[in-house]
Amino acid sequence: MKPRCFLTSLPWATVVIALAACGLVSAAEAPPPRKRSDVESILKQAPKPAPGSTTRHLNILLVAGPKDHGPGEHDYPGWQKQWAPLMAKAENVKISTAFPWPQPEQWGSADLVVFYLKTKWDAAQVADIKKLQDRGGGVVTIHWAIGCDQDWDKHSQRFGLSYKSASYRHGAVALKLQDPTHPIALGLPRTMAFVDEPYWPFIGDRSNVHVLATSDEKIYRGDDRRQNPGDETVQTIPVFWTAEPADSKGRVFVSIFGHYTWTFDDPYFRLLLLRGMAWAARDNPYRFDRLAVEGLTLP
Ligand SMILES: [Zn+2]
Repeated sequence: MKPRCFLTSLPWATVVIALAACGLVSAAEAPPPRKRSDVESILKQAPKPAPGSTTRHLNILLVAGPKDHGPGEHDYPGWQKQWAPLMAKAENVKISTAFPWPQPEQWGSADLVVFYLKTKWDAAQVADIKKLQDRGGGVVTIHWAIGCDQDWDKHSQRFGLSYKSASYRHGAVALKLQDPTHPIALGLPRTMAFVDEPYWPFIGDRSNVHVLATSDEKIYRGDDRRQNPGDETVQTIPVFWTAEPADSKGRVFVSIFGHYTWTFDDPYFRLLLLRGMAWAARDNPYRFDRLAVEGLTLP
């Protein structure tokens, strides 16, 4: 008898989840593109630089690591390949890359270091961040770059909050702005539909961060195994935040979104990330705004 594929006897949703677990398909569907007119009306609200003003030169270091998920997810090397030339289109910047960690000489010249990778955050790595922050350098982490394997209190002092691989959920998220007046959020809708992945809970004192945007999550209904059947408790979870560690001069911007590659081609996400980068570098938050639509085809 011809052996039957066990998947054909299962409901479709289960098949998708099983294939997704094998990294064969994504369990989530790509979100529809943003409307060009909506993005343009946000861009128009950004203050124009004063006539004759010049932009400060910024050395920006993009740090990626080895890929750890299936196609279209956690594509750190792909991001570095796409975003190095994208960021190089900005005015008065020098873009450098590191994989999987900066060389000692790269730290010294960086004004801003952006991490999209999974790393341990051991004591030497946390010390590198402290040194950068002590001289006023900016730091940005994207998605699993906030995940730390040890000494979470020390890690949270550098990034405002820390995350020990705990709960998470892939899928549709209604992202809610908590501070629409913050320069990073200026003009963005109060609620934005995304398809990505929030994490919870975070380790550290929430009063150490300025939460820009959140998601309301059923905290026992994530994709992980930390379930409590019947418990529908909803908590408001930080998804984007800024921090200014009290013991240094550095600024930090953290994006929990960034699971799916499609998120990096979402102009709303790009605006949050690009403005977060410029803000962390203590510069005009809108200096990279035009890159939010660079290379994208929007309806
Ligand atoms: Zn993820």
